[in-house]
Amino acid sequence: MNIGENIRDLKAELPSDVKLVAVSKFHPANMIMEAYEVGQRLFGESRVQELLQKQPLLPQDIKWHFIGHLQTNKVRQIIGKVALIESVDSVKLLELIDKESQKCGMVTEVLMQIHVAKEENKFGFYPDELLEFFNNNKFEQYRSVKIRGVMGMASNTDDNNRVREDFRRIHSAYLSIKKEIGNELPDFNILSMGMSGDWPIAVEEGSNLVRIGSSIFGSRI
Ligand SMILES: *Cc1c(COP(=O)(O)O)cnc(C)c1O
Repeated sequence: MNIGENIRDLKAELPSDVKLVAVSKFHPANMIMEAYEVGQRLFGESRVQELLQKQPLLPQDIKWHFIGHLQTNKVRQIIGKVALIESVDSVKLLELIDKESQKCGMVTEVLMQIHVAKEENKFGFYPDELLEFFNNNKFEQYRSVKIRGVMGMASNTDDNNRVREDFRRIHSAYLSIKKEIGNELPDFNILSMGMSGDWPIAVEEGSNLVRIGSSIFGSRI
């Protein structure tokens, strides 16, 4: 695996308005440094403990995205440590991130996770559920979080039609929400979709942030 080359190849293929999160979960700090050395600054981790272990070993100008299921008892540990929590999958979690951020006197940026995939074990709000949350202006009470957009995953399948359909549903939910609350939340502008196996379809379907791991770092043991 030539990590630097993989990053450069991906950057050459991605449209300039699509940001790349290099998903470094399960990979050690020295591999992250290889990506850093070719200019990558955005990295994604899915476990709190692992993130907190690696972070001090690496340059301070890295921006970390948390992309995994965040357990409520771990929220406090990552406030102030991450640039964006992409995986807010319940109102309870949003509430807690808000509360803990307020205690630290900071505002935490987040994405709301949408569930459209056929797998039941994926986390997130169903599109209707999330629309209802925004239609009722429930987000307005949370002053210490800034909701920047949505994140979603397509079904894990070889059926590209299904994958495309999943991304369309996520994009469409994103647009409906934006229409509803765009005036109140002018920075609601991130649509995070696409991983190693499906990012080209995600980009065709409107993604502006892709989360790519194995195509950069190789498979996870
Ligand atoms: C692991 C992970 C990725 C990256 O997956 P790859 O297939 O290795 O690119 C992207 N998003 C989420 C939420 C993940 O957990």
